[in-house]
Amino acid sequence: MDHFDYVDGAMHVEQVPMEAIAAAVGTPVYVYSTATLSRHVGVFREALSALENPLIAFAVKANPNAAVLATLGRLGLGADVVSGGELLRAIAAGIPADRIVFSGVGKTAEEMRVALEKGIYQFNLESEPEAEMLSEVALSMGRRAPVAYRINPDVDAGTHAKISTGKSENKFGIPYDRALESYAAARDLPGLDVQGVAVHIGSQLTDLAPLEAAFVKVGALIEALRGAGHAIRTADLGGGLGVPYDPAQPMPPSPADYGAMVTRVTQGWDVRLMFEPGRVIVGNAGALLSRVVRVKQGAQAPFVIVDAAMNDLLRPSLYDAWHDIRAVRPAGDKAKANVVGPVCETGDTFAMGRDMDVVQADDLVAFMTAGAYGATMASTYNSRALTPEVLVSGDKWAVVRARPPIEALIAGDSIPDWVAD
Ligand SMILES: *Cc1c(COP(=O)(O)O)cnc(C)c1O
Repeated sequence: MDHFDYVDGAMHVEQVPMEAIAAAVGTPVYVYSTATLSRHVGVFREALSALENPLIAFAVKANPNAAVLATLGRLGLGADVVSGGELLRAIAAGIPADRIVFSGVGKTAEEMRVALEKGIYQFNLESEPEAEMLSEVALSMGRRAPVAYRINPDVDAGTHAKISTGKSENKFGIPYDRALESYAAARDLPGLDVQGVAVHIGSQLTDLAPLEAAFVKVGALIEALRGAGHAIRTADLGGGLGVPYDPAQPMPPSPADYGAMVTRVTQGWDVRLMFEPGRVIVGNAGALLSRVVRVKQGAQAPFVIVDAAMNDLLRPSLYDAWHDIRAVRPAGDKAKANVVGPVCETGDTFAMGRDMDVVQADDLVAFMTAGAYGATMASTYNSRALTPEVLVSGDKWAVVRARPPIEALIAGDSIPDWVAD
């Protein structure tokens, strides 16, 4: 559920008309709803209410805007970060270090040093060489790093290949079958405090079965590790729960279904459970607001050319993702249309042959469910300014990232003398 609703024929976000935001900030612009963020945190937390003190660490990469992070931090969430930049962002937004977990296959020694200095809750290690590097960095600082190994359980998450992470051929985690050896080696590293096990098999999962299969493997591994003398105190079950993008598709499992499965499968594990939800928290809390530049005739259906493009919202181009596209002030008629951006790539296509509200030049459209992996993936391709972001709460709203002037983009480059001469 979200808080983008029609009032008197025009889409509002909470109590603010989308038209007012477009008039003040221009388009394209991302618009986020605080009430929706807060509702999703509540629903997710409620789904896990049978667990004792779980750590819910929001996956920052899904939406790293400072105002969004601060909102989620105030609601009690921690952060799952995958770079030094995300770590500093989470801390700057007020998320305490003892609620931060650091994931990712390529952490550098410098990123490790900063995370140790801040005192994060856990490093999720993805290889033995990484474990050795972290141990050295920690020792050089007179510290011991709290770690888990991310296990690659070799299960098929059943999602798009580019967001599947738990198959043996993927780059993530250590092979499940070698886990005992990897843990034994980690125990011998004096800079590490081995405390847990982690798993994350992919994103936009629409079936609980692969998650359950992965969690069952984690449970078996915890038992085996304890048998081998490891004091396992945490289990990080990652993120990945899908959200509804296309109303014509079956609904993905609800957080309540997910929580019930987790509660059943993890019975008796005797660990602190950790979660890294991203999309399910922010996906439906955001929309990309865009204006129709013009409508041009097409062979089968008209091309609706909007002022948003693949550089603002990459998901359709990258993952063939489907976003609901709605007129902000629907005229009542529906027809088939192709919705495209102005970028010079055929991949800059949001929808082909889509049955949607009929729109004309200057009309506003909203790309729904764009709060996750939207603005965070934006680029300046085609020398387009980075997309601004707005956060709404009730009848209040604020620009939480301004649209940079194109002059700033141009001034970012420099021309060496030996080129200019
Ligand atoms: C991306 C990612 C997540 C979040 O995934 P969602 O599908 O957005 O919930 C969680 N953990 C790790 C390690 C990730 O890479």
